[in-house]
Amino acid sequence: MQFFTLHHLDMLALNKDKSQARRIVEQYFKKGELAEKDQLPCFLPYDSQTKTKLQNCLDILDLNNNLTVTKAVRNEPRTYLIRKHRQMIYEMQTKFLNSNYSTLLTSFKAPKTQKQPHSMAILKEIQLKEIDFTRDEVLTGRVLTVRVFDLPSFGFTSIFFLIDDGENTMQRLSVYNLGKDYEQISEDFKMGTWISIMNPYVRQAMDGEAMIRVDDPKSIVFSGKISEKVCSYCSKSNSKFSCSKCLKVSYCDKECQIKDWKEQNHKLVCFKS
Ligand SMILES: [Zn+2]
Ligand SMILES: [Zn+2]
Repeated sequence: MQFFTLHHLDMLALNKDKSQARRIVEQYFKKGELAEKDQLPCFLPYDSQTKTKLQNCLDILDLNNNLTVTKAVRNEPRTYLIRKHRQMIYEMQTKFLNSNYSTLLTSFKAPKTQKQPHSMAILKEIQLKEIDFTRDEVLTGRVLTVRVFDLPSFGFTSIFFLIDDGENTMQRLSVYNLGKDYEQISEDFKMGTWISIMNPYVRQAMDGEAMIRVDDPKSIVFSGKISEKVCSYCSKSNSKFSCSKCLKVSYCDKECQIKDWKEQNHKLVCFKS
């Protein structure tokens, strides 16, 4: 068996059969583990870059295998979505940063493509809580006005946001083709910013759960309305206290801060500023 290289990764990305791709990566991984066992104790601990790369690769393939899982949930609870979003920010920063696994992900194409409408005049408003998230469809002719909650998560192929209706209904938003100016994007989509999404695509994502997808960023209109100082825990506006470590989020009081840290995974995304 040859060494596993990035060339192999590219080949796997083109492989339509993801379970076969997983078997191949796993084969290399097991072979490596066996080789590791055979080593003399004086060489231990043995830490190989290839091992980490293969492990990450398996993680991503597992993520992709969940494609077939359809949970068909009308709307996920808010706390669940926040925890998951922050877990994803954490994993991107710690595990997948600077890696080449984007090729594996870009090989997955959505069945439909979302586009901006020809005219805004004919658009009819739709509320987040009215949307049936068990479907996979572009809501043509509709416009969804929502507020950005939390910090964005920069993925390989798209940027993920959490959005809410200003109340308790929350959803994930995945925007493609926004470019790589992460600082500007973070500023444009800062927490509390209200946006209107024309022709939103209700998409069953790779993890088997729903999200709003935007392929054409021109479909997003900024009204200029911003809810100031949204509490990172309860989402009320005009919260007074900032997290003294990251300085990126604010809270109504100590209680909201503690609950956000423990229940909503702020601890995973809080880095010293
Ligand atoms: Zn609060
Ligand atoms: Zn913090």
